[in-house]
Amino acid sequence: MFSDQMVELGKKRSTIREIFEYGNKRAKEVGRENIFDFSLGNPNVPAPRSVTDSLISMIQTEPAEILHGYTSAPGMDSVRQAMAEDLNKRFGTKFRKENFYMTVGAAAAICTTLRALAEPEDEVVVIAPFFPEYKCWIEHTAKAKCVVVPADTESFQICFDALSHAVTSRTKAVIVNSPNNPSGTVYSEETIQRLADVLEQKSEEFGHPIFLISDEPYREILYDGRQYPFVTKYYKNTFVCYSYSKSLSVPGERIGYVLVPDEMEGASDAFAAICGAGRILGYVNAPGMFQRAAAACTGQTADISVYEKNRNLLYDGLVKYGYFCVKPQGAFYLFLKAPEADEKAFCERAKKYDLLLVPGSDFGCPGYVRISYCVKTEMIERALPVFERLAEEYH
Ligand code: PLP
Repeated sequence: MFSDQMVELGKKRSTIREIFEYGNKRAKEVGRENIFDFSLGNPNVPAPRSVTDSLISMIQTEPAEILHGYTSAPGMDSVRQAMAEDLNKRFGTKFRKENFYMTVGAAAAICTTLRALAEPEDEVVVIAPFFPEYKCWIEHTAKAKCVVVPADTESFQICFDALSHAVTSRTKAVIVNSPNNPSGTVYSEETIQRLADVLEQKSEEFGHPIFLISDEPYREILYDGRQYPFVTKYYKNTFVCYSYSKSLSVPGERIGYVLVPDEMEGASDAFAAICGAGRILGYVNAPGMFQRAAAACTGQTADISVYEKNRNLLYDGLVKYGYFCVKPQGAFYLFLKAPEADEKAFCERAKKYDLLLVPGSDFGCPGYVRISYCVKTEMIERALPVFERLAEEYH
């Protein structure tokens, strides 16, 4: 009666959501203060005051029929202009409003891009560890095949030998995500340059462009004064998928964009395909009030310094107790090597202490667990002795 595939997908919650719901259930039983829930990537710092101010001002000044009305499908001109000016100022680029298509967060930006690009039987390459929804979007939204490049667990940069093997004549695109969920790694300029070189060379070998989809919801969440290069400067055939969910702490408001640079091969058709994909996916236009709010808050972020403090506290504690992990350089995740080969068994052991961690298998990287530290610093302080006791079980 219904699509079997969709029924199956609808019934099967993501592992992250399962763990989060389990945490809520346990909180009712033993009290929220006794649960150490590191499962979700839901920013815990409030949105900057400017978000609220811009909403109040637009409610007070704009006629309701305009405020709540449809916008043009790619988004409001003034909003797209603000996005272009913001990036040009920060990265020395030369984008125009015509390069931007406003979307319902990064999720819709990526789905729209995948649908715009891939035909059935095409392949889309992802690099482990990767955001688990990619697989779902590649297979079900684009009806393409998801090809996984195994992780370079030394540094969580890209394993280029494996990437070279994974890219074939059927490859339509490669998705990268830096700063990375779940490893917290930020790709170095050398990695971006090598990636560009490999994709240039493969595009030439196969006689068609291999596009890069750069998923950047954590673009501003960088530590130790680090900078992240703007990827279109290195590889012209790049779709940038951005979201304000994390930088402005507004994940429930669903606002982001796809950026199609003028230098891209077939740029005008590429943009048309994005519009076409948005249309058939039924997105119509991204939320109007939050298009305006995002434009009013360009260049600002929530107080992301909290995440760096959390990273330091958590990383230093875990290393002291004998755990191993690559020090996160951005985003708000730490990818811990499980002290036993089966990371799911480790997560189960942690659960006995009401310590909720996410197994790495879903991210294409078994043997590791994700700790999401966009939580109250005080919860990390309380959780550290619990991590210590857990480590002692392995000594
Ligand atoms: N990509 C990555 C790597 C993410 O971590 C997330 C959300 O956590 C998304 C995409 C989806 O972001 P959005 O909330 O903007 O749809």
